[in-house]
Amino acid sequence: MIEFKDVNKRYPNGFEALKHINLTIDQGEFVAIIGLSGAGKSTLIRTINRMHDITGGTLTVDGTDVMALHGKSLRRFRRKIGMIFQSFNLITRTTVIKNVLTAFVPDLPWWRAAFGIFTKEEKMQALEALDKVGILEKAFVRADQLSGGQQQRVALARTLAQNPQIILADEPVASLDPVTAKQVMDDFRRINRDMKITVLINIHHVELALQYATRVVGIRAGEIVYDGPADKVDQAVLDAIYQGGQEEAE
Ligand code: ADP
Repeated sequence: MIEFKDVNKRYPNGFEALKHINLTIDQGEFVAIIGLSGAGKSTLIRTINRMHDITGGTLTVDGTDVMALHGKSLRRFRRKIGMIFQSFNLITRTTVIKNVLTAFVPDLPWWRAAFGIFTKEEKMQALEALDKVGILEKAFVRADQLSGGQQQRVALARTLAQNPQIILADEPVASLDPVTAKQVMDDFRRINRDMKITVLINIHHVELALQYATRVVGIRAGEIVYDGPADKVDQAVLDAIYQGGQEEAE
């Protein structure tokens, strides 16, 4: 369970990106965070794995106070949380399987990490993760030979190999064409349903958010203005999130 209690985030330059956030997400939910560009979606997602520190309130994951974690405990905590970015963040000049195997690197003795030595079991786990996102046959292809959608699937497989409880996805389909975007969203849905992994997606395509997520959180200027089922999002809700907000857009 992810729990925000009266959370604030003020950046060092004084800008308040999150204001009084109260939000509880249960294990296994599929939540889309929507809002204008600059509303605070990415900031919200990135506080969960401490890519950004909150500056007020409390944030807990399964009862652990995220701000109390440091060093080893923070690294261990982060292993439970997968992160997917718009830009895939793959090592493009190496094979797909080697990219997935990097998921194990934080747990390896330095010499295995340095020489890229993986056990048979680790290799099997990497192949299984690729199978789960339907690109097993690409395992030995160089990552830069793949399409954008396939690269995002590799990123997803790499995250699955770390056996996460939560996947945070920051605009995962923003650079994909509409058909490929849906395929990647289908992967997220399957992973969420079959593996009971919590999925939190920051997404600006409203239709995709409504089609795939079961719960939608609408953010406007750092505040939650809607939190409820995707099928209850009507024009009035969309207006509250987006209308007259052009000046907030970057
Ligand atoms: P979104 O994901 O909804 O587009 P962000 O969370 O990226 O929004 O940003 C929210 C607001 O915080 C924006 O106004 C942005 O300019 C500001 N912001 C983001 N990162 C920083 C930073 N490192 N320092 C100062 N302001 C920032």
